[in-house]
Amino acid sequence: MTSVVERLAGDAPAFSVEFFPPRDAADEAILWRSIRELEPYDPSYMSITYGAGGSSRDGTIRNIARAATETTLVPMAHLTAVNHSVAELRNVIGHFAAVGVRNVLALRGDPPGDPNGTWTAHPQGLNYASELVELLRSLGDFCVGVSAFPYGHPRSDDIESDTKHLVHKFRVGADFAIAQLFFEAEDFLRLRDRIAGAGIEAPVLPGIMPLTTPRTLRKTIELSGMQAPQWMLDRLEPLADDPKAFRVEGLNVVTELCERLLAEGVPNLHFYTFNRSKATRELVGRLGLVPVRA
Ligand code: FAD
Repeated sequence: MTSVVERLAGDAPAFSVEFFPPRDAADEAILWRSIRELEPYDPSYMSITYGAGGSSRDGTIRNIARAATETTLVPMAHLTAVNHSVAELRNVIGHFAAVGVRNVLALRGDPPGDPNGTWTAHPQGLNYASELVELLRSLGDFCVGVSAFPYGHPRSDDIESDTKHLVHKFRVGADFAIAQLFFEAEDFLRLRDRIAGAGIEAPVLPGIMPLTTPRTLRKTIELSGMQAPQWMLDRLEPLADDPKAFRVEGLNVVTELCERLLAEGVPNLHFYTFNRSKATRELVGRLGLVPVRA
């Protein structure tokens, strides 16, 4: 099974796609329609996020296994330490390996219910993502990704300590990182510089939200932990009641961001799809990231 870093080693810039576990059968059909629509575009890999609850976790495990066995895509499972003992984590990781999923994004996760609440580790569990990286490394030949935060993780005291903890994740075995959402190319490039400045050569991939609706803009503000810059609000807010115009301008904003990142040599753009393929297909088409056969 091809690893994510092998896929990132090509000469041409590429893109990847992120999905979330479906809530029910209808959702699952939508997810699979989107996966099939994106498959001919040859994303470098596809990932499915990992939720806090049992049924959502089953959805991740079942669908990533299906992607591994029924598609040509390189699958990557997200995995968090939330409410899992080490024995349970070993079990899930063993299952991934058994179905051919060798790429895992190792995350600490947030307290269920209140992402900003106090973090409490499972009594027989793990405290930090770095420990999950170590666990994966000890269990087999996994390609391991981790998260990175352009503005620093919300729980970090400052950028210096955040960078130190991120660098530690690489030192214990992470192969690459995916950055949380951000607004300006410079915000991401500064993160990349901090990592390179610490002597880490592993790839760092920008997370990109297609800004198709006011909701996606609000989600980006929430996840990035940062207010959107005024120039972006000036372009998008006046269109909040005109869905078509918002989508056009939102995708223009994202295209400009992606063009700037690609000009800076970013090897791969990681798109949040919300289990729909249309906006990502449109963006990668505009950016010239589509293989000839798509
Ligand atoms: P860690 O790297 O463990 O960091 C957590 C905090 O502890 C940070 O403030 C860090 O600086 C600090 N820290 C780390 N190590 C130490 C140490 N040794 N001593 C002291 N402090 C330390 N969540 C989900 O539930 N499911 C998902 O699928 C998911 N996917 C994500 C994908 C991406 C690309 C990103 C960016 C985030 C994702 N998240 C997901 C959210 C993530 O779980 C949360 O942001 C969580 O709060 C932090 O996880 P982490 O892996 O960065 O934790």
